[in-house]
Amino acid sequence: MIKRSRTILKSVFGYDKFLPLQEEIIDNVIQKRDTLVIMPTGGGKSLCYQIPALIFDGLTIVISPLISLMKDQVEQMLAINVTAVLLNSQLPADEYRKNVYQIKQKKSKLLYLAPETFLKKSILNLLALVQVDCLAVDEAHCISRWGHDFRPEYRQLAETRPVFKDAVCIALTATATQQVQKDIQKSLGFDASNEFIASFDRPNLFLRIVEKSNPLKQALAFIEENAGESGIIYCATRNTTDKLYEALKKQGISAKNYHAGLTDRDRNKNQDLFINDDIQVMVATVAFGMGINKPDVRFVLHYDLPPNLENYYQEIGRAGRDGLPASCMLLFSYGDIPKIRYIIQNKKGHEQRLANIHLNSLLQFVETESCRRVPLMNYFDEDHPGNCRTCDNCFGGDKEQIDVTLPAQKFLSCVKRTGERFGANHIIDILRGSKSKKVLNFGHDKLSTYGIGAEYSRKQWLHMSRQFLSKGLMIQDMEYGGLNLTAKAYAVFKGEKVSVSHILPETLPEKILPDEIPEYDRELFEMLRKTRKKLADHTGVPPYVIFSDKTLIGMATFFPGNENELLQIHGIGAVKLEKYGKIFLDIIEAYRNKD
Ligand code: ADP
Ligand code: ZN
Repeated sequence: MIKRSRTILKSVFGYDKFLPLQEEIIDNVIQKRDTLVIMPTGGGKSLCYQIPALIFDGLTIVISPLISLMKDQVEQMLAINVTAVLLNSQLPADEYRKNVYQIKQKKSKLLYLAPETFLKKSILNLLALVQVDCLAVDEAHCISRWGHDFRPEYRQLAETRPVFKDAVCIALTATATQQVQKDIQKSLGFDASNEFIASFDRPNLFLRIVEKSNPLKQALAFIEENAGESGIIYCATRNTTDKLYEALKKQGISAKNYHAGLTDRDRNKNQDLFINDDIQVMVATVAFGMGINKPDVRFVLHYDLPPNLENYYQEIGRAGRDGLPASCMLLFSYGDIPKIRYIIQNKKGHEQRLANIHLNSLLQFVETESCRRVPLMNYFDEDHPGNCRTCDNCFGGDKEQIDVTLPAQKFLSCVKRTGERFGANHIIDILRGSKSKKVLNFGHDKLSTYGIGAEYSRKQWLHMSRQFLSKGLMIQDMEYGGLNLTAKAYAVFKGEKVSVSHILPETLPEKILPDEIPEYDRELFEMLRKTRKKLADHTGVPPYVIFSDKTLIGMATFFPGNENELLQIHGIGAVKLEKYGKIFLDIIEAYRNKD
């Protein structure tokens, strides 16, 4: 028997296969078992309640805290002729009334609600009149005080459960911590067995870290690499954001800025320009990204070091939600570390220890010479076998190793001779023969290791010292920062070799496209893209609501010649075929006959 959910997947959504766990989750929900879903951004959470909504006779209510996301989802549903409405406090009165009427008339399959709207007496009364089959709680981490976005109204959702006795509840989040997961289950009264946790790995994101040397030039080169594609540049402060935005504008890049210092109006305007493909690059602080559903962001640049891996992962996660390759680059400078250390020093007790652990995980990720996904996934309590092929370290096979046994011996013996009490900066001062007060005060200019390492720059020494740490030749005291030697260090004194793949990560690897992406006709793709933009502006929706990039690439690969062939393309179901099929078939036909 072909399952209904599979049929709907193809005929309504135009997709051939379920993404990992989607099918199991949908089965579980249809059987009316309360279900917790943990999936990374882009994992395909929405489909897990949208397909059940089409199978159930009654209404599916989706609780979502982000009004822009609700709007976006309703647009996407309407684009495939699935009836959906939303209710929130920002809706004009007449539209609100119209939507309420639709629900009363049982005309809609899906109702998107802000949590505070859901709790209103008038809405609960309204919902008592209709059959509610499913309650989907999106961004479910908002229920938990442990989450980063706790919302009191979310807590009260649980109290309404008895009112909707026949409704199954599905809670969804991209937050990985176990504490939050447990909290959601407890608050909603779920049993632990109906939990689906997808892998957090995002293999389509190409990860790259380069030494920050000339950041503006590097940013421009990165944009050039991704010419014509949408991208986000994250900066640490509003000031950097504005400066970089101005500088890019001067270079003719179509960009806007976004941070908490702008008015609501400007922020919304800039965000809309980005979503509608009217600008290419968004320069922003962390304030940007929540509530963005744009699936075809092709690159994310970290202009500054993010505060921790959690932030980093969330931010790069905004790229490539459509599953196509996307490029993520981080500009790294050792100069950023003292600023972070300073902030950490001003914290106390537990917070300080936590911040140190966060910084160390971040540095492990930045400085590793093997697959970056190992420390990254490890941070999210997930094992990764390494050799991912889509990070800068894995790409391009084995790198030539540089023997640094001699500098390692110099460095380590300097650590030993100063009593294993000092950090890397002081050790480097001694090795490079500095006349700093600290060196002279301790009499370290009298040591035999004084001045024996002038052949390497401070930067190179710093990089090597981090490699010695990550190779386990020494460990760093968490509280005071002093370096201590390990047994491995003594093996190096006895002549065991130490090698690293580079002394300073200065070079940018070539632009890389993982080989999964098919060869497609770029000229046709651009033509299809232009038509998509025109249709989108005409209908007043973002271009990705018409067709995703993946759909256009499919057309530019297979050149469908009739409706049946068009239906084989990813993302084209019956409704989109009817709405846009002819327009796109005509373009492909004309392109084929061009010469
Ligand atoms: P999340 O809410 O988990 O971040 P979404 O539900 O927004 O993810 O889905 C991410 C993208 O993946 C969307 O563009 C969606 O259309 C697409 N998608 C979802 N399910 C499938 C599938 N089975 N096959 C192909 N694409 C899918
Ligand atoms: Zn890798």
